[in-house]
Amino acid sequence: MSYQVLARKWRPRDFASLVGQEHVVKALRHALEAKRLHHAYLFTGTRGVGKTTLARILAKCLNCETGITPEPCNRCSACLEIDGGRFPDLIEIDAATNTGIDEMRALQDNAAYVPVRGRFKVFVIDEVHMLSKNAFASMLKTLEEPPAHIKFILATTDPQKVPVTVLSRCLQFNLKQMPRAAIVAHLSRILPEEKIQFDPEALALIARAAAGSMRDALSLLDQAISHGAGKLAAASVREMLGAVDETYLLRLLEALTAGDGAALAAIADEMQSRSLSFDSALQDLASLLLRLTLAQTVPGALEEDLPEYARLMALAQAIDPETVQLCYQIALQGRDDLSLAPDEHAGFLMTLLRMLVFRPGETKSSDVKPKTQQSSFDGNWTALVQKLPLSGAAKELARNASSWWCRRP
Ligand SMILES: [Zn+2]
Repeated sequence: MSYQVLARKWRPRDFASLVGQEHVVKALRHALEAKRLHHAYLFTGTRGVGKTTLARILAKCLNCETGITPEPCNRCSACLEIDGGRFPDLIEIDAATNTGIDEMRALQDNAAYVPVRGRFKVFVIDEVHMLSKNAFASMLKTLEEPPAHIKFILATTDPQKVPVTVLSRCLQFNLKQMPRAAIVAHLSRILPEEKIQFDPEALALIARAAAGSMRDALSLLDQAISHGAGKLAAASVREMLGAVDETYLLRLLEALTAGDGAALAAIADEMQSRSLSFDSALQDLASLLLRLTLAQTVPGALEEDLPEYARLMALAQAIDPETVQLCYQIALQGRDDLSLAPDEHAGFLMTLLRMLVFRPGETKSSDVKPKTQQSSFDGNWTALVQKLPLSGAAKELARNASSWWCRRP
């Protein structure tokens, strides 16, 4: 038997198996039960959130041989043919590839004929915003006076580009991005059925990379399964995703919290020996700092199934919120400065040292702490490098970076 990709194999076939989008499902169920059917629906939402899946389920609800129903039987020939993509009265058009007026004229002609097999002739137009102006005008003629046997289901990632004249004739539903927890839950249901062992952390990594798209999550899962030779280990998934291992960033923040400059330099060296991108590292560090701020300010904002949840929460307690804010600023600025630095490693290390030496409020002249406890920074980088607990190559590098910093325009 040929291998079927997971995204197709696990494509939901009815409302009950659809993950997320409860608000849309509820409204559609209600309309189907009450037989209050609109002639045109518009599903909006980012890619991979289930717009065309929902369109096909709705097509079955309308054409199932058991009658118009929110629970299509999935057994009659109409249901099976719609699932198999061979139902003659379900016409799917991808406007991204058919933007032309000819296709819309053909659609207009086709719409005049009664359905061959079904109750309704259903036109699904994906990425409808891509239609040309003339094509929209032509479609509008059918939308304005639709024959009773016609249903339109339009889908788009960009509703702002759909003309108002079209929008006003559609019942609009906005599909939400898939929450990470919903993706993880769905993948954890699929994998045992596929008889594949997995690390929960691997799923969290995939869910994060999928950025709200269930389809992307399933494609990544497919890739990860072949990459890991049938197993899903966190290390192998991380390697596949090319993600900067977040443990580096967590170690950096832990070294910062401990005020350990030598550890900071050692971790930066380790990252360089692994040829990690310092630009992505600073970007990821900024997003990690955002998560710390969330953990500090919005209780329950962090999903507990995050792979690094415990360490994040510990950091959130150990670093004060102002310092997190300042480090975030320094990370952003550091990214900007990378291209100006002697080299990326130096720019990265300098950014980390800046996080180490700057502490909010400590440079105030009103600071009354005894001199021996004071760690304020007066802008003298040369003196600072002398004071830092660095040695060997790291000290040399810090010295070079500081003299470059002082000479910069
Ligand atoms: Zn059926």
